Amino acid sequence: MYYPDEVVEEVRMKNDIVDVISGYVKMQRRGSNYFGLCPFHNEKSPSFSVSQIKQMYYCFGCGAGGNVFTFLMEYENYSFEEAIKFLADKAGVSLPETDYSVEARRNENKRAKLLAVNKEAARYFYYQLRSQKGQVGYRYLRERALSDETIKKFGLGFAHVTSDDLTKYLKSKGYEDKLIMEAGLAGFDEKYGVHDKFWNRVMFPIQDGNHRVIGFGGRVMGDGKPKYLNSPETMIFDKSKNLYGLNFARTARAGHIILCEGYMDVIAMHQSGFTQAVASLGTSFTAGQANLLRRYAKEVILAYDSDGAGVNAALRAIGILKEAGLTGKVLNLEPYKDPDEFMKNLGEDVFKERLRQAENSFFFELRMSEKNYNLKDPESKTRFHREIAQKLCGFSEEVERENYI
Ligand SMILES: [Zn+2]
Repeated sequence: MYYPDEVVEEVRMKNDIVDVISGYVKMQRRGSNYFGLCPFHNEKSPSFSVSQIKQMYYCFGCGAGGNVFTFLMEYENYSFEEAIKFLADKAGVSLPETDYSVEARRNENKRAKLLAVNKEAARYFYYQLRSQKGQVGYRYLRERALSDETIKKFGLGFAHVTSDDLTKYLKSKGYEDKLIMEAGLAGFDEKYGVHDKFWNRVMFPIQDGNHRVIGFGGRVMGDGKPKYLNSPETMIFDKSKNLYGLNFARTARAGHIILCEGYMDVIAMHQSGFTQAVASLGTSFTAGQANLLRRYAKEVILAYDSDGAGVNAALRAIGILKEAGLTGKVLNLEPYKDPDEFMKNLGEDVFKERLRQAENSFFFELRMSEKNYNLKDPESKTRFHREIAQKLCGFSEEVERENYI
């Protein structure tokens, strides 16, 4: 999409750079410039400066510099088009219409409606959690050691046992049955008519990278089945192209991303300060998700459960990461089952140490396959070595292969 210079200029003028960057970097005024810790390299004393007069930023440490557009492109990994749209929206400038076909415009319209109804549902669940009927959900979350602040940050909510109250509420807000069902918030059957999909569950709103609610995960209270229920895929909810927690993790800048199995793991990690944690959405990790992660880090540390299913899921994920050109490492959570339990028992410092010691994924693969062989038996040992040799052939670069040998 091409935007005329005067439009680009208008958007730039209406978004003061100091204003925009203060949303990301804590800055102090010094003379006519503002200074803060550079978001593009690690530093202890501020060498990142923003000039209000020039409407430019520059870092004396790493040389990063540019205007309000380049800042967002660097920081948020936006394309120019995404950056200008974001800023135009912020300043209330309307961008010239793209020459959308009727079809595309209708889709855009539908998407906006689905986002709106999801947002309203999230709001409803959020208030339910704080109501008398929601206490069972609230207690559950507190028992899982989540703070009020964390519950709020993730917008957690509750769907109580009545099976049509959300639908009624949404209809009272003017949403039609059809849209509510299309959003995956309700279903239909002969006996009950249109009824809520989620009930008696703690609700986890799933947000896209821009903090928009695109779906839900619900954890049942008690022993009902299934334990976790997720929104179906919709026009705005593509499970293979979103990750839980990415809306926060995308700006964590830890140099790596921690990939967990479940929502609770992600939340427990964020609460302990590891805001680089994400999880796939009730499905196994996909190539689409790996490509998404590549925008934010080169290294992904797997924090999967240490049981058999977790190990298998980790082995699958390693292959997908490699395919996407990412370095995978595996976290040792023993003697605990998952990151949530680990954090509760051993705490942040030990966890940090384990992150540093995360195992190279190739060695992890070897260690796991070694268990399938009897190394005391020469024949079995030979088969094991053959398997290693075969794996080594997977490195296309000679230097890399040599190093592993
Ligand atoms: Zn810098």
